[in-house]
Amino acid sequence: MAVPGERSGRLAVYDAPNAPFEIRRFPVRPPRRGEVLVKIRMSTICRSDIHSYLGHRPNPCPGVLGHEIIGTIVELGEGITHDMRGAPLAAGDRITWSEYFIPGPNYCTEVLDLPQKSPGVEKYGHMAVTQDPHHHGGFGDYCYVLPQSWILKLPAELTDEEATPINCGVATMMCVTERAGIGMGDAVVVQGLGLLGLYGAAIAKARGARLVIGLDTVAARRELGAKFGVDHALDPASMDEAGLVATVRALCQPEGADVVLEVCGSPEVVASGIRFLRNGGRYVLGGVVNPDAFVSIDVNQILRKLITLRGVHNYHPRNLIEALDFVQANRKRFPFHDLVDGKYRLEEIGRAFKDAGERRVLRAAIVP
Ligand SMILES: [Zn+2]
Repeated sequence: MAVPGERSGRLAVYDAPNAPFEIRRFPVRPPRRGEVLVKIRMSTICRSDIHSYLGHRPNPCPGVLGHEIIGTIVELGEGITHDMRGAPLAAGDRITWSEYFIPGPNYCTEVLDLPQKSPGVEKYGHMAVTQDPHHHGGFGDYCYVLPQSWILKLPAELTDEEATPINCGVATMMCVTERAGIGMGDAVVVQGLGLLGLYGAAIAKARGARLVIGLDTVAARRELGAKFGVDHALDPASMDEAGLVATVRALCQPEGADVVLEVCGSPEVVASGIRFLRNGGRYVLGGVVNPDAFVSIDVNQILRKLITLRGVHNYHPRNLIEALDFVQANRKRFPFHDLVDGKYRLEEIGRAFKDAGERRVLRAAIVP
């Protein structure tokens, strides 16, 4: 594949869902106009990478996964001089960038203010490795930040472990909590204490929530919740639905939760989630990213209780800035560094996916 003397880089490629990863080399060329060539420092395995790898959601093959990425600038393409906040960019700078890029100005971006839903939007770690410039996922040596991405320079004080989940996990929860309208004094229920749920609990507290209740069947995650702002961690498998609803509502005086966030990916939790809410409460879906997530709910309850029901997919570029600022401002209050609890070399990616898929680690990181 690579010509001797020409620069090349490794990528972990899978040819079909569940097929073993293979390390292959692909050429690295100078960045074109609007591109940035980055040497990857760390990529974390997101739950959606696992869903793609297992074939639960469509992803082109042979594929390269990974979209929670940070890296160091090797070379800036023509026209890229500053990050989205106006800080000058140079070779050697450590950066994060939006998990998606758009083809150019369009109605979704200019009129609807939904760039993340632009026609033709593409995401890092969601393209066939055969597509130029090959290096557009996180599990490899290099990545090209492609035109119409949003780039942020990372402050030196942040560790790689704190910085890597910012452009997916943290930014997504910035958007979810924004759409939930979490404010001073709110009682918030978080369904699922995986990475999204833990960041969600911490962000809810930072937004002024008085009470956060976290639900998860994994004991280790319920224990971890206390460090991320969860006041009461409950095991939803330990009681029937009526008992769970009564318990949650009793904790959220006087008449139920202001906000419920779904970040567990299980559509069957939506019905009980709506029952946790007070009249006028808000329910936001953030985790059910797989198609065919059918569920039967009594929509009369949504009408009678004046419930607001919202979905969030990807995030607005402003949420990326907020995510970085939130982690930087709260890194002493919440132990974000510890969330990345497994580190693997690129050759160990198969084991990393297995450990992450079986929830032996909370966030597995590939350090090439
Ligand atoms: Zn992700």
